[in-house]
Amino acid sequence: MKYWNPYLETLPRKRYNEIELSYFRNMLSYAKEHSMLYRDKLKGIESKDIQSLDDLKGIPFTEKEEMRKYQDMDPFPYGGLLGSEIGKVTTFRQTSGTTGKPVYVPETYESWQWRVEAWCHILYMAGFRPHHRIFLPFVYNVYVAFWEGHYAAEKLGCELVPGGGLDTKGRINKILEIRANAMMNTPTYGLHIAEEAKAIGIDPASLGIERMLCAGEPMPSATRKRLEELYHCHVFDHIGGTEPCAWAGMCEAKDGMHLIEPFFLVEILDRETLQKEVEEGEVGVAVVTPLGRRSFPLIRFNTKDLVIKGKETCSCGRTSRKIKEVVGRIDDLRKIRGVLFSPKTVEEVIRKGYAEVMEYEIVVERKGIMDDVTLRVEFPPNFDPKKADQIKSRLREDLKVKTNLSFLVQIESPGSLPRYMLKAKRFRDMREGEKNE
Ligand SMILES: [Zn+2]
Repeated sequence: MKYWNPYLETLPRKRYNEIELSYFRNMLSYAKEHSMLYRDKLKGIESKDIQSLDDLKGIPFTEKEEMRKYQDMDPFPYGGLLGSEIGKVTTFRQTSGTTGKPVYVPETYESWQWRVEAWCHILYMAGFRPHHRIFLPFVYNVYVAFWEGHYAAEKLGCELVPGGGLDTKGRINKILEIRANAMMNTPTYGLHIAEEAKAIGIDPASLGIERMLCAGEPMPSATRKRLEELYHCHVFDHIGGTEPCAWAGMCEAKDGMHLIEPFFLVEILDRETLQKEVEEGEVGVAVVTPLGRRSFPLIRFNTKDLVIKGKETCSCGRTSRKIKEVVGRIDDLRKIRGVLFSPKTVEEVIRKGYAEVMEYEIVVERKGIMDDVTLRVEFPPNFDPKKADQIKSRLREDLKVKTNLSFLVQIESPGSLPRYMLKAKRFRDMREGEKNE
């Protein structure tokens, strides 16, 4: 079978719009009735007023900051965000809290199944099938990664191997021992496993991984391709978060990511005004409404993800709209010496042309009135210093072209920079008054 849900994945655009609008109206009425946040927030807005996608404009966005305020109410710990009876909650998850107090997310059995079904779309379109034995090199905990992936893979009929409680070497040995042929991991950790495997004399391509689904961090296409080269496998990306769920996934055409319609109503809005839907190829902010999850209603959630809107057609035959690429988080965009800078550009440069760079970190500091931006890089042990110097100057030139900024490039000793399993934090802004996640 080509699609997980042949009916829902190939609807005409008009039908998607009708279904999504109708679900949106239902969700709006439900949220007003069951969640304190929306009882207050949507006063005076009636679902019957929403007759077209254009009518969404009059509905306020939901921002993370206000969610924290309502969370402090009763009942503990979800407060005014809860959309179901507290006794019906079966699963607790939380956000990482990198931007402040974590948001606690309640799921009932039904809402969790809804999330899992959306994830089935993501895994199936990335080619995951029952013959896959998926290794999860990961510790499960209060965060959502990779619980949905686990349950969805099970629903698809795949075999899951939880790889928590082992160090990286232990995980590599386990993959070989049980002949796992697929993985779900962060891009960073995928690179790290490859690095460790090489260090103990194992070619990552010989691990036998055929398919990899990445999550947790925005992945430049250069990183995806790098992983494909290292493992000789197919690597897929998806977009999601703890609050809005996973709302887009990459199909085997690997040309952008399909919105999971009609599970979500996704708007890609002009980042200056947050009013107008952007055109194909333009950058916008993703605003997401999950349409079937009642335990934690979210109406027009501002994800603060900057994405490039993709094509409306795909060689895979799915008719859902597409995201071409994730640019990064609005919160990660900084002005450095008057230039707008996204850390993702640096990752793109490094993964594309500098396989020798094992790890890196960007540090911005203010020296007097000037901003200094330093790239700290790590090479493998016993790396030829002459070659390192050549790479250093080539990097400086490439970064100048791509970011319009002059970087200081500093070589660090092997293993001195931090390694990450979950969200990598390779960007530190030390200037006073600047946000530093
Ligand atoms: Zn496709």
